[in-house]
Amino acid sequence: VDARIQATQRLEGLSRLAGGVAHDFNNILGAMLGFETFVTEGITELMNTGHIPSDAGRTLLSDLEQIRNGGHRATDLTQQLLTFGSRKHLSVAPLDLNQAIHESCDLLAPTIGKDIDVLTDLAVDLPHILAESVNIAQILLNLTMNACDAMESGGTLTISTSSTAIQGGEDGPCGGLPPGRYARLTIRDTGVGMTPDVLDRALEPFFTTKGRGKGTGLGLATTYGVINQLGGSLRIESAPHRGTTITIHLPTADETAEPPPAPTAQSAHGGT
Ligand code: ADP
Repeated sequence: VDARIQATQRLEGLSRLAGGVAHDFNNILGAMLGFETFVTEGITELMNTGHIPSDAGRTLLSDLEQIRNGGHRATDLTQQLLTFGSRKHLSVAPLDLNQAIHESCDLLAPTIGKDIDVLTDLAVDLPHILAESVNIAQILLNLTMNACDAMESGGTLTISTSSTAIQGGEDGPCGGLPPGRYARLTIRDTGVGMTPDVLDRALEPFFTTKGRGKGTGLGLATTYGVINQLGGSLRIESAPHRGTTITIHLPTADETAEPPPAPTAQSAHGGT
């Protein structure tokens, strides 16, 4: 539990730092991209009025396009960092985890390779959890993408849910979670798996074994951050050539408490 607390504190420090840097960086990028638009317009104008030859103008415009593309890629990355470092207050409400999984899977389906079979084994009568549906989408997106990367030559992705009670005072992955009823979400792949060294560092922000431009090393750290905010836990089991299983516990809503607030228009769709 001590190690878990230390890891959590380190992650919180890092995520605050990452969020701060990302925020400032994003403002700078926004200003740069704004000026890029002015310059593009200026060059177009100069070409139209014959002040610069159109050949030279076109070359300048294509150079500018490179700058713009780089700027947009950097914006995407800082956006990811911002989510990772976000201190955003979650407006959680009782959520049907199975339904959130169905919705996320619909969104993810086109990005999952044809050689990958997706099986879902969702428990009936699963108690509601306290989360925003976007949290589940984020968790599933990150974990599914990792699973697909691990199964480049095909395999099976199994997503299952079940309901479980934690008594408290337990060791292992659920030690540290307060006693109560939890929804368990398991994502299993039959991919390449992780060596013990990779498994050790998998949750570390910016740790990636994927090539440049492929991985950011933020997928699992972000996922862990979200689950932490929801008061849950995450465990990874993995071995080379044996695939990977990620087990997540999320606290359930107390259904005997007062009824959930009326849904707002905002929570009816995926949103931002
Ligand atoms: P990224 O996917 O950008 O590399 P992550 O934080 O999601 O960042 O993952 C960190 C590393 O953990 C990956 O680079 C990979 O080595 C390993 N990993 C994560 N998920 C899996 C998986 N399902 N199977 C095998 N290795 C994985």
